[in-house]
Amino acid sequence: MTESIELHGKLRTCLACRASLPKPSMLRLVVDDEGQLWPDLAQKLPGRGTYFCMQETCLQGMNDKRLQPLKAKFVVSLPQWAVLKERIESVLEKQLQQMFTRMRSTAHVGRDAVMHRLWNNTPLLLVMAADAGDALIRQIDDAVAKRQQAGQKTKTVRVSSKLWLGEKFGRENVAIAGIDASGPAAATANKLDQYCVWHRHIKA
Ligand SMILES: [Zn+2]
Repeated sequence: MTESIELHGKLRTCLACRASLPKPSMLRLVVDDEGQLWPDLAQKLPGRGTYFCMQETCLQGMNDKRLQPLKAKFVVSLPQWAVLKERIESVLEKQLQQMFTRMRSTAHVGRDAVMHRLWNNTPLLLVMAADAGDALIRQIDDAVAKRQQAGQKTKTVRVSSKLWLGEKFGRENVAIAGIDASGPAAATANKLDQYCVWHRHIKA
């Protein structure tokens, strides 16, 4: 770690691509006594940690060779990337299931609920299935563009499928859901957005 990054305090260097990014935007990994790496979403687990950027390009080129430099700082058992990838995917899947389950009564689930919610001018996170269909995607994009013109904050995150999103809400298929992102709900919506993006990158 260079001196300037240390001074900054809140930046961390990606273990694989060496990118320096704010700590909350990265995934912390902890190393156990057996040299196994474990994802620590809350960044609170005890033990020595390292950080992973979870950016699409970094994950695309990821392999065991890129975990090798960790050996300078930790006792790390290699090869490990295949199993680490599964661990990250599974922890994200579990976390997202918990978050969506907790939101079942407050989220705006399905096209009609979302279209109705779009009239309300408070910040909104839209979670849209990749297979939502062109007609729905166009309809939502138009409505979001109008909100944007009116200065209303809307963020859209793509998830893998209607089936996947449906599972999260305990329904058969869900093409789109709206999550309130104003006031105290903003932090949760931001985390949900981040985990959805990471989940998509790790599954790609
Ligand atoms: Zn990276």
